[in-house]
Amino acid sequence: MDCIFCKIVNGDFNTKFVYENDYVAVFKDINPKAPIHLLVVPKKHVESLNELDDKNLMGELLSAVRETTKKLGIKSYKTLINTGKEAGQEVFHLHLHILANA
Ligand code: AMP
Ligand code: ZN
Repeated sequence: MDCIFCKIVNGDFNTKFVYENDYVAVFKDINPKAPIHLLVVPKKHVESLNELDDKNLMGELLSAVRETTKKLGIKSYKTLINTGKEAGQEVFHLHLHILANA
């Protein structure tokens, strides 16, 4: 499958992960919209939130937000999930944005 985030989480580009576990990888957004802009990405390909049926993975994604922000000492941040083209989803591999000022 030609999916950029599958390639990234598989290590094809040697992307540095800010946080990683068996289920999730977190890396910097290539086109940051805030001083800190990270993407929390499931290692399994899921097209969007509409296709996410795995409640354990739902928990893992939010847990990765907590672990990442804790690790980086980020106390205030926004999280965002774009679902569907009309809502602004550009990459059709589920991801949560973490946006922070410092
Ligand atoms: P969305 O609009 O929610 O689908 O967000 C897609 C995000 O992925 C955008 O903020 C892009 O800047 C980011 N992005 C696209 N390609 C890459 C890449 N190769 N590495 C890191 N981030 C990327
Ligand atoms: Zn994928």
